[in-house]
Amino acid sequence: MPIFDVRHQARAHCILQRAMRSKRVPHAYVFHGPDGVGKRMLAVRFARLLLCVRPTHVAAPPELAQDKAVAWRDACGECEACRLTAAETHPDMQVVYKELNRYHPAPEVRARKALDLGVDVVRHFIIDRVADRPSHGHARVFIVVDADQMSISAQNALLKTLEEPPSAAFIILVVRSLDRLLPTTLSRCQPVPFVALPDAFVEEQLRAGRPALPHDHLRFLSRYCNGQLGVAIRQVKGSLFENKIVINRALADLPQSGPSPFVRSVQDCASSLADDYVAEMIQSGLIDKASETSGAEPTRRGFLESLNLAAGFYRDVMQIGCGRSDVVVNTDQMALLNATAERLPPEVAASAIREIHRTESDIVNNANVVLALEALAIRLTRLEGLPSDHGHLRSRKKDA
Ligand SMILES: [Zn+2]
Repeated sequence: MPIFDVRHQARAHCILQRAMRSKRVPHAYVFHGPDGVGKRMLAVRFARLLLCVRPTHVAAPPELAQDKAVAWRDACGECEACRLTAAETHPDMQVVYKELNRYHPAPEVRARKALDLGVDVVRHFIIDRVADRPSHGHARVFIVVDADQMSISAQNALLKTLEEPPSAAFIILVVRSLDRLLPTTLSRCQPVPFVALPDAFVEEQLRAGRPALPHDHLRFLSRYCNGQLGVAIRQVKGSLFENKIVINRALADLPQSGPSPFVRSVQDCASSLADDYVAEMIQSGLIDKASETSGAEPTRRGFLESLNLAAGFYRDVMQIGCGRSDVVVNTDQMALLNATAERLPPEVAASAIREIHRTESDIVNNANVVLALEALAIRLTRLEGLPSDHGHLRSRKKDA
């Protein structure tokens, strides 16, 4: 697991490598950026470098290699510490996540559903252990996954540790966005930004893992997942591609079929996507069985994902209307998209996307899902019926 396995994150690598060279590595970092772009991967690799007893100089990946004067470092990969970190069994590396409550000594904490990363988990797995002497080498590293789910009290409890960490302790908070961290937490951590990966790289990585998957399926996942390779890899196993085909057909048929078939399609897709989500949680060891998920969360996620697919359909229609067929996500359904773009000008497709976003926020705010979907279907059908006076605009763009 070389550190430069984490690709296309030049800025993050440079920040960490500069700190290693200066021998003044900050004791608290916050790795922030989209899901599935290598934050956790780099956190584990950086921990391995900090714990390794014989760090070594290595060649940088192509996107960093232009800076030839710089010495890039990585763990040796051969010492006992490296072996244990690679297996994630190094006693001086602790990965902390909200579901760790299941291993807490107090039965009442174990019995709770892990809705957030609570203060009990943070106290027991970080604060109470941070001052322990490293059992093997010279450092102890704590990687807090989804640290933006830390409760306010957990963040407050951690403040003192972040402010005056023991000299051997390093804490890496891994978050999607910095918004949910308290300013006091943020001000004590060195930020390390991560960016979305190039579509072509995501597609290439997906193809390497699943060479038998049809080209259109791979292209859809790499484009739909916005450069989030980890998300795309999770979706390969699920039913996203099959579901989006159903939703797009239902949207294309909306003017003839009326609202009900669309509502039924979204309900079916949401339920199948919710099953994917639960299966993924079980597979990644976060829960043992479906009943351990937090209430209606999988279903809600399923509905939101289905609506995101629906918005993707109209986004493609809009792109075609603007002459940008090259960036279409649903390349396997071009005939359907072209036919829809013929009757829906880009402005109307944009209004449809706004209506879908409105429904998403209704669902997030606990609206009745079926009623919200019915209302959406009616509004979308009405949009379809609007007289189109933009035809000349579109044909002009096509000529250009
Ligand atoms: Zn080593």
